[in-house]
Amino acid sequence: MAYKKYFTLSYDDGVQQDRKLVEIFNRYHLKCTFNINSGFLGTDNTLIRLGKPVAHNKIDKEEVATLYAGHEVATHSKTHPDLTKLPEKEVKLQIQDDMKALSELAGYSVTGHAYPGGTYDRRTADILKDCGIRYARTIDSTHSFLPPADPLMWHPTCQHCDEKIFDLLDDFIAAKPTDGDMLFYLWGHAYEFDYNVPGHTWEHIEEICKRIAGKDDIVYCTNIEFLNR
Ligand SMILES: [Zn+2]
Repeated sequence: MAYKKYFTLSYDDGVQQDRKLVEIFNRYHLKCTFNINSGFLGTDNTLIRLGKPVAHNKIDKEEVATLYAGHEVATHSKTHPDLTKLPEKEVKLQIQDDMKALSELAGYSVTGHAYPGGTYDRRTADILKDCGIRYARTIDSTHSFLPPADPLMWHPTCQHCDEKIFDLLDDFIAAKPTDGDMLFYLWGHAYEFDYNVPGHTWEHIEEICKRIAGKDDIVYCTNIEFLNR
């Protein structure tokens, strides 16, 4: 059996900037997993990043199915706490409530996860598994193209602002999967493109998409599609 190269994306928080990001991904026929806090859908917030306010307004419930059609909806907990600091019962509620709400909104069984704030440990991963979660993304960049050793602690290749992003993309495009399937896993938040500083601009993500898209030997997939390959 011939091995293949896969490219997947993962963007968090269900923010209104996802509307523009989905439009870009769709234009390049890329597939993304969007990690959503169901408890915050329809609410507005402002973050202070790099000393400036950035909109952290969430999409509406009614948009989940249509906006993310063709992509994957995954959990990010109900209200974004540090799960490693919560008792088991509360972790379960955070995950089960989010799975149930998102599955109803998306119209399919939602079984993916990205750790809110990126914090994780073995205990939390085991609780997620008990809840029926099949994989959970961290924010620890590997700069590698290996499939996850443990999908419940799935480390991405890098974030979009990584200083090596274009070198990594070029290495991946040139690579031949001789020893096993290869995966490029890119993650971030759509609101970061509003920072408008190098590594965090809408032109930057457009450039990344343009570089990786349209290759005959790369399969463009959501996180769960990769696991189900
Ligand atoms: Zn988040």
